[in-house]
Amino acid sequence: MTYRQHEEALNNPVFSIISDAARELSLDSYVIGGFVRDYLLQRGTPKDIDIVAIGSGIELAKLVAKKLPGSSEVSIFKNFGTAMIKFKDTEIEFVGARKESYHRDSRKPVVENGSLEDDQKRRDFTINALAISLNPEDYGQLLDPFDGIGDLKRQLIRTPLDPSITYSDDPLRMMRAIRFATQLNFIIHPESLQAILDNKERIKIISNERIVDELHKILASSKPSIGFALLHETGLLSYIMPELVALQGIEEIEGQRHKDNFWHTLEVVDNISKNTDNVWLRWAALLHDIGKAPTKKFDKKIGWTFHAHEFVGSKMVYKLFKRLRLPLNEKMKFVQKMVLMSSRPIVLSEDFVTDSAVRRLIFDAGEHVEDLMTLCEADITTKNPKKQKRYRNNFKIVRQKIEEVEERDHIRNFQPPISGEEIMKTFNLRPSKEIGMIKEAIKEAILEGDIPNEYNAAYTLMLQKGKEMGLKAE
Ligand code: ATP
Ligand code: MG
Repeated sequence: MTYRQHEEALNNPVFSIISDAARELSLDSYVIGGFVRDYLLQRGTPKDIDIVAIGSGIELAKLVAKKLPGSSEVSIFKNFGTAMIKFKDTEIEFVGARKESYHRDSRKPVVENGSLEDDQKRRDFTINALAISLNPEDYGQLLDPFDGIGDLKRQLIRTPLDPSITYSDDPLRMMRAIRFATQLNFIIHPESLQAILDNKERIKIISNERIVDELHKILASSKPSIGFALLHETGLLSYIMPELVALQGIEEIEGQRHKDNFWHTLEVVDNISKNTDNVWLRWAALLHDIGKAPTKKFDKKIGWTFHAHEFVGSKMVYKLFKRLRLPLNEKMKFVQKMVLMSSRPIVLSEDFVTDSAVRRLIFDAGEHVEDLMTLCEADITTKNPKKQKRYRNNFKIVRQKIEEVEERDHIRNFQPPISGEEIMKTFNLRPSKEIGMIKEAIKEAILEGDIPNEYNAAYTLMLQKGKEMGLKAE
C-alpha cells in the first residue's frame, strides 16, 4: 500500500493545521467517519469534519483554534470529552480515541482512553470507521481495519463488531443503519437486519428527538420509501408510527377490496420527492391517508368508505407531532392543512370545474395552493396507463383554471376589499357582530362570483346589506 494515496481528501488547509498542532502536542490524529466515507463516495465536500486524537481531543482543538486564521471559538463538551470549532461553514469535531462499554439500560457508555483501532471498533458501521492519517510519517494513508472500502464497493451497511451487541448497546444505530441505507441506496447486511429485528424493542430507550432527526433524514432522501419499508420490515415502525402500520393490508368483503394504503402512501412519498425538497410537504404526503385506518367501513351499497378521513387525519397529525416532539408551530399547521385538503382538488378534477369552486379552493389553500396540487399529483399511483393519463390531464386543467381565476380575482392572498373600520364608519357602528356579517357576505359574494373582487362592487354590496339589516349610512 502506498502512503499519501488519499492526500487529495486533505485539500482543505485546516488538515495541515490540525496535523501541525497534533505534532506540537506529540499526538497522533486522524480524520474519521462521515467525511472519509463521503469523500470516497464522491458525495461532494462534506461540511462536517470529525477528528480523532490519540490523547486529548479538547487540547488539540484548543491549539488548532489558535492556529486557524481569524479567531475561532472552541465549544467544549467536557462530559463527552469532545470539542467543536466552527471554521467558515465547516464544523470540526475533536474527540480523544476511546474504548467503550455499555450498560443495558442506557446508551451512555463507560469510556476509557484507547487506541485508534479501539475507536474504530466503537463506530457504528464499517463505512463510518474509515480513517485517514494526519501524521507526517504517513499523511494521507487510509486506515481501514474492517474492510469499509469493500463495503463501500459492495454497497453494504455492516457493523464492525457483532451486530446484535452493536445495536443493543446503542439502539439509535438501528435508525442510523436504515437512514444510511436510504441515503446511500445501500443494502443492510442480512445479519445486521436480523439483529435489528431482534433488538427492535430497544428503540424505546431512544429519545423522540433523536428518532425524528433520523426520520427527517430518511424523508429528505431521494427515495424515502427505502427507509420506511425497512422500518416496517424490521418492526421498528410499530414503535415509532403505529398509525402508518395500521394502513397496511387489504381487506375483502363480498368480493370488494380496497387498496393497501401503506404501500400506496410510500409510493406517494417517493413521487412527491421528485417534485419537492420541502420536507414538510413530504411529511404531508406521508401522513395524508393516516385517517383511513380509523374511518374505514364497509357499506353494502357503495363498498369501502373512509368517511371524513381527511378531517380525522388532520387531527391525528397534531397527536403524532406532539408525541414525536415535532414542532407544534406553523409547520404542523401546514401539514394539517395539506392532509385536511388532500381530496379537494380530486373532487374538482372529477367534476366539471366551476370558477367558484376554484375560487374556494384558492381561498382555503391560500399561499399553499401550489403545494396542495403537488401533493394531489403525487397521489396518482394507479398502474392503469389510461387512468393515469386521465387523472394527470384533469389536474392540469385544474392548475390552468387556478391560474386563470387567480389572475383575474386575486384570491390567493385574499384581503377583504372593505375593512371592518370602513363598515363601522359608514354605518356609525361600534364593534359588533353586524360588521362580521357584512364582511362575510362580501367575501361569500366574491367567492360565489356574484361580484368581482373590487372595492366599488364591494362598497355597493355593503350599502345594500346594511340596508337589509336596518342600518343607516351616515
Ligand atoms: P452525516 O453527518 O451525514 O449524518 P456521519 O457518518 O458523519 O453522517 P455523524 O452523526 O456526523 O454521522 O457522526 C460522525 C461519526 O461518528 C460517524 O461517521 C460514526 O463513525 C460515528 N458515530 C456517530 N453516531 C454513532 C453511533 N450512534 N454509534 C457509533 N458511532 C457513531
Ligand atoms: Mg457528520
